[in-house]
Amino acid sequence: MIKVDCAIVGGGPAGLQAALVLGRARISVALIDDNRPRNAVTHASHSYLTRDGIKPAEFRRIAYEEVLSYPTVTRYEWEAKEITRAENGFVLSGEDGSRVLARKVLVATGLKEILPDVEGLRDCYGKSLFNCPFCDGFELRGQPLAVFSEQPGAYHMVKMISHWSKDLVVCTNGSNSLSEEEKERLRKKNIMVMEQPVTSFVHQEGKLEAIAFADGAILPRSGGFVAPVLQPRADFQATLHYERNELGGIAADSWGNSGVPGLFAAGDAAYVMPSQLIFAAADGARAAMSVVKELIEEEME
Ligand SMILES: Cc1cc2nc3c(=O)[nH]c(=O)nc-3n(C[C@H](O)[C@H](O)[C@H](O)COP(=O)(O)OP(=O)(O)OC[C@H]3O[C@@H](n4cnc5c(N)ncnc54)[C@H](O)[C@@H]3O)c2cc1C
Repeated sequence: MIKVDCAIVGGGPAGLQAALVLGRARISVALIDDNRPRNAVTHASHSYLTRDGIKPAEFRRIAYEEVLSYPTVTRYEWEAKEITRAENGFVLSGEDGSRVLARKVLVATGLKEILPDVEGLRDCYGKSLFNCPFCDGFELRGQPLAVFSEQPGAYHMVKMISHWSKDLVVCTNGSNSLSEEEKERLRKKNIMVMEQPVTSFVHQEGKLEAIAFADGAILPRSGGFVAPVLQPRADFQATLHYERNELGGIAADSWGNSGVPGLFAAGDAAYVMPSQLIFAAADGARAAMSVVKELIEEEME
Protein backbone atom coordinates (compact mmCIF):
# COMPACT_ATOMS: atom_id res chain seq x y z
CA MET A 1 0.00 0.00 0.00
CA ILE A 2 1.18 3.55 -0.80
CA LYS A 3 2.00 5.50 2.40
CA VAL A 4 2.05 9.28 2.52
CA ASP A 5 1.82 12.09 5.05
CA CYS A 6 -1.15 13.65 3.26
CA ALA A 7 -3.68 12.43 0.72
CA ILE A 8 -5.52 15.11 -1.20
CA VAL A 9 -8.77 13.94 -2.78
CA GLY A 10 -9.67 16.18 -5.73
CA GLY A 11 -7.36 17.91 -8.19
CA GLY A 12 -9.31 21.08 -8.96
CA PRO A 13 -7.91 24.50 -8.00
CA ALA A 14 -8.40 23.79 -4.27
CA GLY A 15 -6.61 20.43 -4.30
CA LEU A 16 -3.89 21.55 -6.72
CA GLN A 17 -3.07 24.68 -4.72
CA ALA A 18 -2.96 22.56 -1.56
CA ALA A 19 -0.57 20.15 -3.31
CA LEU A 20 1.66 23.08 -4.30
CA VAL A 21 1.89 24.32 -0.70
CA LEU A 22 2.50 20.80 0.64
CA GLY A 23 5.06 19.99 -2.08
CA ARG A 24 7.00 23.13 -1.24
CA ALA A 25 6.89 22.10 2.42
CA ARG A 26 8.44 18.74 1.36
CA ILE A 27 5.46 16.76 2.64
CA SER A 28 4.77 13.45 0.85
CA VAL A 29 1.46 13.82 -0.98
CA ALA A 30 -0.84 11.49 -2.91
CA LEU A 31 -3.00 13.71 -5.11
CA ILE A 32 -5.98 11.53 -6.03
CA ASP A 33 -8.21 12.88 -8.79
CA ASP A 34 -10.65 11.23 -11.21
CA ASN A 35 -10.45 14.14 -13.66
CA ARG A 36 -14.13 15.12 -13.80
CA PRO A 37 -14.01 18.86 -13.06
CA ARG A 38 -17.29 20.71 -12.67
CA ASN A 39 -16.31 23.57 -15.01
CA ALA A 40 -15.33 21.24 -17.89
CA VAL A 41 -18.41 22.36 -19.85
CA THR A 42 -17.22 25.93 -20.13
CA HIS A 43 -14.82 27.24 -22.81
CA ALA A 44 -13.20 29.97 -20.78
CA SER A 45 -12.65 30.65 -17.09
CA HIS A 46 -12.68 34.26 -16.02
CA SER A 47 -11.65 36.44 -13.12
CA TYR A 48 -8.48 34.64 -12.00
CA LEU A 49 -5.65 37.16 -12.07
CA THR A 50 -3.06 36.38 -14.80
CA ARG A 51 -5.34 33.61 -16.17
CA ASP A 52 -8.45 35.58 -17.18
CA GLY A 53 -10.18 33.81 -20.09
CA ILE A 54 -8.13 30.61 -19.87
CA LYS A 55 -9.56 27.24 -20.99
CA PRO A 56 -10.22 25.11 -17.87
CA ALA A 57 -8.17 22.23 -19.32
CA GLU A 58 -5.21 24.55 -19.89
CA PHE A 59 -5.50 25.89 -16.32
CA ARG A 60 -5.26 22.33 -15.02
CA ARG A 61 -2.40 21.44 -17.36
CA ILE A 62 -0.29 24.36 -16.10
CA ALA A 63 -1.24 23.65 -12.49
CA TYR A 64 -0.31 19.94 -12.72
CA GLU A 65 2.98 20.83 -14.39
CA GLU A 66 3.88 23.16 -11.52
CA VAL A 67 2.67 20.86 -8.76
CA LEU A 68 4.28 17.66 -10.07
CA SER A 69 7.66 19.39 -10.38
CA TYR A 70 7.91 18.94 -6.59
CA PRO A 71 9.36 15.47 -5.97
CA THR A 72 7.19 14.60 -2.95
CA VAL A 73 3.91 15.02 -4.88
CA THR A 74 2.50 12.08 -6.87
CA ARG A 75 -0.69 12.09 -8.91
CA TYR A 76 -3.08 9.10 -8.88
CA GLU A 77 -5.92 9.08 -11.38
CA TRP A 78 -8.76 7.17 -9.71
CA GLU A 79 -11.94 7.89 -7.80
CA ALA A 80 -11.70 7.65 -4.01
CA LYS A 81 -14.74 5.54 -3.17
CA GLU A 82 -14.20 5.23 0.54
CA ILE A 83 -12.11 6.79 3.30
CA THR A 84 -11.88 4.93 6.58
CA ARG A 85 -10.02 5.59 9.80
CA ALA A 86 -6.90 3.55 10.51
CA GLU A 87 -4.35 3.60 13.27
CA ASN A 88 -2.51 6.96 12.91
CA GLY A 89 -4.45 8.02 9.88
CA PHE A 90 -6.81 7.04 7.09
CA VAL A 91 -7.10 4.45 4.32
CA LEU A 92 -8.40 5.72 0.98
CA SER A 93 -9.73 3.08 -1.41
CA GLY A 94 -10.59 3.10 -5.09
CA GLU A 95 -12.76 0.68 -7.06
CA ASP A 96 -9.89 -1.27 -8.64
CA GLY A 97 -8.21 -2.10 -5.33
CA SER A 98 -6.05 1.06 -5.28
CA ARG A 99 -5.29 2.02 -1.70
CA VAL A 100 -3.42 4.82 0.04
CA LEU A 101 -2.57 5.08 3.73
CA ALA A 102 -2.30 8.72 4.79
CA ARG A 103 -1.68 10.45 8.12
CA LYS A 104 -3.84 13.39 7.03
CA VAL A 105 -6.59 13.74 4.44
CA LEU A 106 -7.59 16.92 2.65
CA VAL A 107 -10.91 16.63 0.80
CA ALA A 108 -11.26 19.01 -2.18
CA THR A 109 -13.82 17.13 -4.24
CA GLY A 110 -15.97 20.11 -5.27
CA LEU A 111 -19.64 20.13 -6.14
CA LYS A 112 -21.88 18.55 -8.72
CA GLU A 113 -24.71 20.40 -10.39
CA ILE A 114 -28.20 19.14 -11.07
CA LEU A 115 -29.57 21.17 -13.97
CA PRO A 116 -33.30 21.59 -14.62
CA ASP A 117 -34.49 18.93 -17.05
CA VAL A 118 -35.49 21.14 -19.99
CA GLU A 119 -34.68 20.34 -23.61
CA GLY A 120 -31.65 22.23 -24.93
CA LEU A 121 -30.50 23.55 -21.53
CA ARG A 122 -27.56 21.18 -21.20
CA ASP A 123 -26.39 22.00 -24.75
CA CYS A 124 -26.30 25.72 -23.92
CA TYR A 125 -24.79 25.37 -20.43
CA GLY A 126 -21.24 26.73 -20.41
CA LYS A 127 -21.69 28.23 -23.90
CA SER A 128 -24.51 30.79 -23.61
CA LEU A 129 -26.14 29.84 -20.30
CA PHE A 130 -24.08 30.17 -17.12
CA ASN A 131 -24.58 30.15 -13.36
CA CYS A 132 -22.56 33.12 -12.10
CA PRO A 133 -22.46 36.72 -13.38
CA PHE A 134 -19.04 37.33 -11.82
CA CYS A 135 -17.68 34.49 -14.01
CA ASP A 136 -19.49 35.20 -17.30
CA GLY A 137 -21.57 38.39 -16.92
CA PHE A 138 -19.05 40.56 -18.77
CA GLU A 139 -19.27 38.37 -21.90
CA LEU A 140 -23.10 38.62 -21.87
CA ARG A 141 -23.25 42.33 -21.01
CA GLY A 142 -26.04 44.38 -22.61
CA GLN A 143 -27.57 41.35 -24.37
CA PRO A 144 -31.20 40.16 -24.21
CA LEU A 145 -30.89 37.69 -21.34
CA ALA A 146 -33.06 35.25 -19.39
CA VAL A 147 -32.75 34.20 -15.79
CA PHE A 148 -34.14 30.70 -15.34
CA SER A 149 -34.68 29.79 -11.72
CA GLU A 150 -37.03 27.40 -9.96
CA GLN A 151 -35.33 28.02 -6.64
CA PRO A 152 -36.03 30.38 -3.72
CA GLY A 153 -33.01 32.73 -4.24
CA ALA A 154 -34.27 33.75 -7.71
CA TYR A 155 -34.92 37.40 -6.84
CA HIS A 156 -31.39 37.94 -5.55
CA MET A 157 -29.97 36.37 -8.71
CA VAL A 158 -32.10 38.59 -10.99
CA LYS A 159 -31.12 41.71 -9.02
CA MET A 160 -27.41 40.91 -9.48
CA ILE A 161 -27.71 40.10 -13.19
CA SER A 162 -29.67 43.30 -13.88
CA HIS A 163 -26.36 45.10 -13.37
CA TRP A 164 -24.92 43.42 -16.50
CA SER A 165 -28.03 43.72 -18.72
CA LYS A 166 -31.24 45.72 -18.43
CA ASP A 167 -32.92 43.57 -21.11
CA LEU A 168 -33.89 40.82 -18.73
CA VAL A 169 -36.74 38.29 -18.53
CA VAL A 170 -37.21 35.93 -15.59
CA CYS A 171 -38.52 32.41 -16.26
CA THR A 172 -39.83 30.58 -13.20
CA ASN A 173 -40.92 27.45 -15.13
CA GLY A 174 -44.18 27.19 -13.19
CA SER A 175 -42.45 27.26 -9.79
CA ASN A 176 -43.00 29.62 -6.84
CA SER A 177 -39.45 30.94 -6.87
CA LEU A 178 -40.63 34.57 -6.64
CA SER A 179 -43.03 36.04 -4.10
CA GLU A 180 -45.83 38.41 -5.22
CA GLU A 181 -43.90 41.33 -3.73
CA GLU A 182 -40.72 40.38 -5.63
CA LYS A 183 -42.63 40.06 -8.91
CA GLU A 184 -44.14 43.51 -8.38
CA ARG A 185 -40.70 45.02 -7.69
CA LEU A 186 -39.32 43.45 -10.87
CA ARG A 187 -42.22 44.76 -12.98
CA LYS A 188 -41.54 48.27 -11.67
CA LYS A 189 -37.98 47.88 -13.01
CA ASN A 190 -39.36 46.73 -16.41
CA ILE A 191 -38.14 43.17 -15.84
CA MET A 192 -40.71 40.79 -17.30
CA VAL A 193 -41.62 37.63 -15.36
CA MET A 194 -42.79 34.60 -17.38
CA GLU A 195 -44.24 31.96 -15.08
CA GLN A 196 -45.51 29.42 -17.61
CA PRO A 197 -43.53 26.16 -18.05
CA VAL A 198 -40.58 26.25 -20.45
CA THR A 199 -40.52 23.48 -23.07
CA SER A 200 -37.14 24.12 -24.67
CA PHE A 201 -34.09 26.30 -25.11
CA VAL A 202 -33.79 26.80 -28.87
CA HIS A 203 -30.15 27.05 -29.92
CA GLN A 204 -27.51 26.60 -32.60
CA GLU A 205 -24.59 24.54 -31.27
CA GLY A 206 -25.17 25.80 -27.74
CA LYS A 207 -25.69 29.43 -28.70
CA LEU A 208 -29.14 30.32 -27.34
CA GLU A 209 -31.59 31.89 -29.82
CA ALA A 210 -34.97 31.69 -28.07
CA ILE A 211 -36.94 30.14 -25.22
CA ALA A 212 -40.09 28.19 -26.11
CA PHE A 213 -42.96 27.98 -23.60
CA ALA A 214 -45.71 25.40 -23.13
CA ASP A 215 -48.40 27.98 -24.08
CA GLY A 216 -46.75 28.48 -27.48
CA ALA A 217 -44.93 31.73 -26.64
CA ILE A 218 -41.44 32.16 -28.10
CA LEU A 219 -39.03 34.59 -26.46
CA PRO A 220 -35.91 35.55 -28.43
CA ARG A 221 -32.87 35.57 -26.07
CA SER A 222 -29.16 35.30 -26.76
CA GLY A 223 -28.02 34.05 -23.36
CA GLY A 224 -28.75 33.89 -19.68
CA PHE A 225 -28.20 32.41 -16.28
CA VAL A 226 -29.63 29.34 -14.58
CA ALA A 227 -29.57 28.27 -10.95
CA PRO A 228 -28.65 24.58 -10.71
CA VAL A 229 -29.16 22.56 -7.54
CA LEU A 230 -25.72 22.07 -5.97
CA GLN A 231 -24.66 18.92 -4.13
CA PRO A 232 -21.29 17.57 -2.91
CA ARG A 233 -19.54 15.61 -5.67
CA ALA A 234 -18.32 13.03 -3.12
CA ASP A 235 -19.64 12.03 0.27
CA PHE A 236 -17.52 10.41 2.98
CA GLN A 237 -19.77 11.26 5.91
CA ALA A 238 -20.82 7.66 6.64
CA THR A 239 -17.27 6.69 7.61
CA LEU A 240 -15.76 10.02 8.73
CA HIS A 241 -18.73 11.49 10.66
CA TYR A 242 -17.99 15.17 9.98
CA GLU A 243 -20.50 17.99 10.40
CA ARG A 244 -22.18 18.99 7.14
CA ASN A 245 -22.38 22.52 5.77
CA GLU A 246 -25.64 23.85 4.29
CA LEU A 247 -24.93 22.28 0.87
CA GLY A 248 -24.27 18.88 2.45
CA GLY A 249 -20.48 19.23 2.15
CA ILE A 250 -17.91 19.27 4.95
CA ALA A 251 -18.31 22.07 7.49
CA ALA A 252 -14.80 23.44 7.98
CA ASP A 253 -13.38 26.62 9.49
CA SER A 254 -11.48 29.14 7.36
CA TRP A 255 -8.26 27.11 7.85
CA GLY A 256 -9.84 23.91 6.54
CA ASN A 257 -10.22 22.20 9.93
CA SER A 258 -13.23 19.91 9.84
CA GLY A 259 -13.36 19.17 13.56
CA VAL A 260 -12.47 15.52 12.83
CA PRO A 261 -8.81 14.98 13.83
CA GLY A 262 -6.61 14.69 10.74
CA LEU A 263 -9.39 15.56 8.28
CA PHE A 264 -9.25 18.85 6.35
CA ALA A 265 -11.46 20.23 3.59
CA ALA A 266 -11.17 23.02 1.04
CA GLY A 267 -12.82 24.62 -1.97
CA ASP A 268 -16.38 24.04 -3.09
CA ALA A 269 -16.49 20.84 -1.02
CA ALA A 270 -16.21 22.93 2.12
CA TYR A 271 -17.45 26.48 1.77
CA VAL A 272 -20.76 27.81 0.53
CA MET A 273 -20.50 30.47 -2.19
CA PRO A 274 -18.97 32.34 -3.87
CA SER A 275 -17.91 29.46 -6.08
CA GLN A 276 -14.84 30.62 -8.00
CA LEU A 277 -11.42 29.28 -8.87
CA ILE A 278 -9.57 31.95 -6.94
CA PHE A 279 -11.50 31.31 -3.71
CA ALA A 280 -11.03 27.56 -4.09
CA ALA A 281 -7.28 27.96 -4.62
CA ALA A 282 -6.92 30.30 -1.64
CA ASP A 283 -8.94 27.91 0.49
CA GLY A 284 -6.72 25.00 -0.58
CA ALA A 285 -3.60 26.98 0.37
CA ARG A 286 -4.91 27.71 3.86
CA ALA A 287 -6.02 24.13 4.48
CA ALA A 288 -2.60 22.86 3.33
CA MET A 289 -0.90 25.18 5.80
CA SER A 290 -3.05 23.69 8.56
CA VAL A 291 -1.91 20.20 7.50
CA VAL A 292 1.76 21.26 7.61
CA LYS A 293 1.28 22.91 11.01
CA GLU A 294 -0.34 19.77 12.45
CA LEU A 295 2.38 17.47 11.08
CA ILE A 296 5.12 19.73 12.52
CA GLU A 297 3.37 19.87 15.89
CA GLU A 298 3.18 16.05 15.96
CA GLU A 299 6.92 15.83 15.21
CA MET A 300 7.66 18.21 18.08
CA GLU A 301 5.68 16.15 20.63
C1 LIG B 1 -20.18 26.31 -16.10
C2 LIG B 1 -19.24 26.83 -15.05
C3 LIG B 1 -18.47 27.95 -15.32
C4 LIG B 1 -17.60 28.45 -14.35
N1 LIG B 1 -16.86 29.54 -14.66
C5 LIG B 1 -16.00 30.04 -13.76
C6 LIG B 1 -15.20 31.17 -14.08
O1 LIG B 1 -15.27 31.70 -15.19
N2 LIG B 1 -14.37 31.65 -13.11
C7 LIG B 1 -14.27 31.08 -11.87
O2 LIG B 1 -13.50 31.56 -11.05
N3 LIG B 1 -15.03 30.00 -11.55
C8 LIG B 1 -15.88 29.47 -12.45
N4 LIG B 1 -16.66 28.38 -12.13
C9 LIG B 1 -16.60 27.83 -10.76
C10 LIG B 1 -15.33 26.98 -10.56
O3 LIG B 1 -15.23 26.02 -11.59
C11 LIG B 1 -15.38 26.28 -9.20
O4 LIG B 1 -15.65 27.22 -8.19
C12 LIG B 1 -14.03 25.62 -8.91
O5 LIG B 1 -13.69 24.71 -9.93
C13 LIG B 1 -14.06 24.91 -7.55
O6 LIG B 1 -12.82 24.31 -7.35
P1 LIG B 1 -12.65 23.02 -6.43
O7 LIG B 1 -11.20 22.68 -6.49
O8 LIG B 1 -13.27 23.26 -5.11
O9 LIG B 1 -13.53 21.88 -7.11
P2 LIG B 1 -13.50 21.30 -8.64
O10 LIG B 1 -12.87 22.26 -9.58
O11 LIG B 1 -14.89 20.87 -8.90
O12 LIG B 1 -12.54 20.07 -8.51
C14 LIG B 1 -12.90 18.90 -7.83
C15 LIG B 1 -12.03 17.77 -8.36
O13 LIG B 1 -12.22 16.63 -7.53
C16 LIG B 1 -12.35 15.47 -8.35
N5 LIG B 1 -13.11 14.51 -7.54
C17 LIG B 1 -14.37 14.63 -7.04
N6 LIG B 1 -14.69 13.55 -6.32
C18 LIG B 1 -13.61 12.72 -6.36
C19 LIG B 1 -13.33 11.44 -5.78
N7 LIG B 1 -14.21 10.81 -5.00
N8 LIG B 1 -12.12 10.87 -6.04
C20 LIG B 1 -11.21 11.50 -6.82
N9 LIG B 1 -11.42 12.72 -7.38
C21 LIG B 1 -12.61 13.32 -7.14
C22 LIG B 1 -13.05 15.97 -9.61
O14 LIG B 1 -12.81 15.14 -10.71
C23 LIG B 1 -12.40 17.35 -9.79
O15 LIG B 1 -11.24 17.25 -10.57
C24 LIG B 1 -17.52 27.83 -13.08
C25 LIG B 1 -18.28 26.69 -12.81
C26 LIG B 1 -19.13 26.18 -13.78
C27 LIG B 1 -19.93 24.97 -13.48
